[in-house]
Amino acid sequence: MSCQSIDAKFQLPQRYQGQIQSFWDEYIQLTLKYKPMNLGLGFTDGPVPQYITDALAAAAKSPNSIVNQYTRGSGHPRLIQALSTLYSQLVDRKIDPINEMLITIGAYEALYATIQGHVDEGDEVIIIEPFFECYEPMVKICGGVPRFIPLRLNNTTTSSNSEINSSDYVLDDGELEGLFNEKTKMIILNTPNNPLGKVFSRIELTKIAELCQKYNVLCVSDEVYEWMIFDDNKHIRICTLPGMWERTITIGSAGKTFSVTGWKTGWAYGPANLIINLKMVHQNCVYNCPTPIQEAIAIIFEGEIKRLDSPACYFNVLAAELKKKRDFMAEFLNENGMKPIIPQGGFFMTANWSALENKADLSTELDTQQDFRFTKWMIKNVGVLAMPPSAFFSDTNKSMMEHFVRYCFFKTDENLQTAANILKEWTGKVMTIRQNCLPAPPNDSI
Ligand code: PMP
Ligand code: GLN
Repeated sequence: MSCQSIDAKFQLPQRYQGQIQSFWDEYIQLTLKYKPMNLGLGFTDGPVPQYITDALAAAAKSPNSIVNQYTRGSGHPRLIQALSTLYSQLVDRKIDPINEMLITIGAYEALYATIQGHVDEGDEVIIIEPFFECYEPMVKICGGVPRFIPLRLNNTTTSSNSEINSSDYVLDDGELEGLFNEKTKMIILNTPNNPLGKVFSRIELTKIAELCQKYNVLCVSDEVYEWMIFDDNKHIRICTLPGMWERTITIGSAGKTFSVTGWKTGWAYGPANLIINLKMVHQNCVYNCPTPIQEAIAIIFEGEIKRLDSPACYFNVLAAELKKKRDFMAEFLNENGMKPIIPQGGFFMTANWSALENKADLSTELDTQQDFRFTKWMIKNVGVLAMPPSAFFSDTNKSMMEHFVRYCFFKTDENLQTAANILKEWTGKVMTIRQNCLPAPPNDSI
């Protein structure tokens, strides 16, 4: 009989030691308790078009009862077919739906399968900061070593009075090349970036592509916000650059694409010899994803593929709608003393709150990072929820955006207006209500 105590025997396995509990959980708990206006998490609080939800109902009620049973493990045939049709057009090469694609539980599982399926003990992984925060723990769980490089504000393109755009945040080419060496296995790219909204330009992607080829490195391109692109910016898939298909895994999300984050369905596509490694992780973890949800997403994609160039295509509707919301948020943040970084894509806006510091009593919160203190104080005392951007940085660089918050602007016009009013009341400033952001009529779709 063992005399080891239960506590000693059932500790977290070594590979997970050092991980901290998710800050998302803490903020969701605070949201449930204080019920602030939720500009925190990345999802819409409005209705999604009925044809999207109808597709799920139709799938579940399909006379073909097989739709409610297990489907092919690495992707429901109808969905991989639809995705292959779409992405073959977009990347200008025929994607084999069977061998070059995997369906996952959200982009999150696609990231997990990609990292688990490629990173070994001691492998180095380059992560561009700010980054979607799961990248770092996922790499560490595999024994990988994250090597961070921050996007820095390029002072030559900005002046103190001008508006700052996410394109003003750039990588230093020398610093980037300095991170590549024979141990480098992977670089993780996120364009459009969460939380900055930066859309990497062709020149920037070409630099990354050259280094990946020079040092024989795999590029993981997290493109979950691929359809949310504003102004003259263009979403460029790095796998389309010369020599990059062979070494890129591209990740997408139906939750983000169709504004149904609760459906938690994502995918990865890339060359068969890389995708097979993801399949190995997936088959030993999730095995297969819910069939009716995959069927519904396939139905919706089939419809959108037929009208890709039409303004009625959801991808175009979404980008146009989000641009208006982005502009309204930028306006009310500016009017209330926060300096936003105007995002080129995605649905998040980071904003500097330094000018408001004297209006908040941050001594009441105990966190080390100022943005954690500020956002928690705001939840409890003002009633608006933002996420703290320092969570999207490595320990070394957390101070870089400690005086910023991240707001999600994919909220109803009514709720954005309410948030604007709450901030106005708090800062004591007067602002005008814009006509185009009055409450939406009840039946208005997104
Ligand atoms: N990557 C990024 C950059 C994200 O912001 C998110 C959050 N949606 C994910 C991946 C995960 O996406 P999903 O909800 O499809 O798992
Ligand atoms: N990606 C979303 C966000 O950044 C949701 C977070 C998550 O998936 N944990 O808000």
